[in-house]
Amino acid sequence: MTFRTTPRVLATATAALLALTGVAACSADTTAGGDPERVDVVAGFYPLQFLAERIGGDAVSVTNLARPGAEPHDLELNPRQVGQIIDAELIIFLDGFQPAVDQAIEQNGGDRAFDVAAVEPLLDATAGGHDHDHGDEHDHGDEHADEVSDGAKDPHVWLDPTRLATIGDKLAERLGAVDPDHADEYAQRAATLRTELERLDTEFTEGLKTCQRREIVVSHTAFGYLAQRYQLAQIGITGLSPEDEPSPQRLAAVTEEAREHGATTIFFETLVSPKVAETIAREVGAQTAVLDPLEGLSTGNSGEDYLSVMRTNLQTLRTALSCS
Ligand SMILES: [Zn+2]
Ligand SMILES: [Zn+2]
Repeated sequence: MTFRTTPRVLATATAALLALTGVAACSADTTAGGDPERVDVVAGFYPLQFLAERIGGDAVSVTNLARPGAEPHDLELNPRQVGQIIDAELIIFLDGFQPAVDQAIEQNGGDRAFDVAAVEPLLDATAGGHDHDHGDEHDHGDEHADEVSDGAKDPHVWLDPTRLATIGDKLAERLGAVDPDHADEYAQRAATLRTELERLDTEFTEGLKTCQRREIVVSHTAFGYLAQRYQLAQIGITGLSPEDEPSPQRLAAVTEEAREHGATTIFFETLVSPKVAETIAREVGAQTAVLDPLEGLSTGNSGEDYLSVMRTNLQTLRTALSCS
């Protein structure tokens, strides 16, 4: 049997080839640029994802680089995620918080990066910390001196709702520059979010106004902004990063602090091991409870968001500090 190329067969083959090429081009576009109708936004970790989704709405498509349930400080990027950074139209990150993300942006971010730390100046790492400058009977302030190195900045800025609102306003401006057609929507959604965050701020101020204790013993030193905003004093078991191992001296000092201030609760986090907090709690006869630094949502928490987790934090604090 011989194969005869009639004009009709040729035409069909050509059409099929064109169709194939078309399909190939289409799918290549999809992997490279994402949804052409939406702004592709990459966020370094959960609170930045929250901001981008609330302000961007359906005009953006947001990818969070940190996996749900994973602690984001020590995030390592796989090649696919580096590709997402290269392809993104806007990358929201917090310089100094996730070294791997900082590095990828330095190499590939160009002018598509939005640095949260650049729009809302960070506090020194010592802010909101506990010291004994009030000159009362217990004079052991030097023990806190080794907690942080000089000049270090505290990245946990999202735990002050009013600062998060300011970051949201700036993000709306930036999104409006990337996507001018939707600039008004972004500004409007940022204003709505600001209202909600200010309501949350009022609830914290009111809820923590009158408490029997104001010292909070927490697992890593993530609550400086919260402490500063609501006049609490943070005693961190470890430093600014949850991976730091507390020294035996540090453990002893924190245990002593917890005792001295009559702490009834030692706080731990959802995304790191509660072991050290439990040890101290057992030592001083306190309970443990989750105070969530919101670096990521824990898995199985799909119904939660920044606002709901912060409200749970407020109730936890009110109980632990005996607030009226
Ligand atoms: Zn942290
Ligand atoms: Zn003390």
